[in-house]
Amino acid sequence: MERILIIDDSPTQADFLRSILCHNYDITIVNVAEEGLRCAKDGSFSLILLDVVMPGMDGFVLLKKLQEEVVTRHTPVILITSLADEASEERGLTLGAVDYIRKPFRDSIVLARVNTHVKLYCYRIQVEQQAMVDQLTGVANRRRYDICCRNKWQDAIRLKAPISLCMFDIDKFKLYNDTFGHPAGDRVLAEVAQSVSRLLRRSTDFFARYGGEEFVAILLGDDAETAFSHMRKVRAAVEDKKIPHNSDTSPWVTVSVGGVTVRPRYGDSYDTYLKIADTMLYDAKRFGRNQVVWSNEHMEQLREK
Ligand code: GH3
Ligand code: MG
Ligand code: MG
Repeated sequence: MERILIIDDSPTQADFLRSILCHNYDITIVNVAEEGLRCAKDGSFSLILLDVVMPGMDGFVLLKKLQEEVVTRHTPVILITSLADEASEERGLTLGAVDYIRKPFRDSIVLARVNTHVKLYCYRIQVEQQAMVDQLTGVANRRRYDICCRNKWQDAIRLKAPISLCMFDIDKFKLYNDTFGHPAGDRVLAEVAQSVSRLLRRSTDFFARYGGEEFVAILLGDDAETAFSHMRKVRAAVEDKKIPHNSDTSPWVTVSVGGVTVRPRYGDSYDTYLKIADTMLYDAKRFGRNQVVWSNEHMEQLREK
């Protein structure tokens, strides 16, 4: 059930709105603007119904604050008010309210307007989520990666935690396509992505399709030895799927993996370290493929084979 936040200083008015909406929505009521702001910031609401005239911070000021916060910026706000003048309506809509309802109102009209805006919001969220997922493999796509990697890097700096950047590349995949056909290649990509992603399920793990037959993983908190050892298991899991291939590397589909673990400080560049991971991947290919090559925090190379 979608959640709606009602912010109204009058408990009677708020309860009345609840009685109209409670059959279709999960309703939360707060009677003070400041508390409404705090509540809205948890980001779980699909709509906010906001009274304009309130003591202290009024609805216009609160609306402005909601529009300035990253988490609440896109939550639709409907203003409900006894201010009947057009200037107030113009002000509310200009500040970013999606709708403006004057008191007294008709129940069915409030419900209809709320339904429309919640539906639009849900549609928007669905489209946004789809835009972040790679259609072929079902894992995060490049767009999501581009947003996520910077955040993870900043998290590591702030927490003074080690972060591991890791590149995967399917071995001799061109040959696979040439031998078994592109549609079969597509199925292998999806299967490999799914089996890797099943092994990177911690809330701090991130895994995405980087492009073509390359994937990228970001792990937070593990030291180099732990990350290296975990990625060896991931690499082995792909090999153990025993998807037939006819390359001179292996009778099965395999991946080469390159990674680096670092404790980044303010000013360190993400791209520099991603390049190191890529160099490790290049070495993994050079050393014979189907293996993990890692660079630890002292820039020493760890090799699997
Ligand atoms: P290496 O072991 O050195 O990585 O050899 P490789 O053949 O895997 O590398 P190369 O970069 O020469 O070829 C990558 C191949 O991946 C070529 C391309 O057709 C294939 N590929 C990239 N994206 C897709 C895709 O979405 N579907 C399929 N089926 N193949 C793809
Ligand atoms: Mg490649
Ligand atoms: Mg390849």
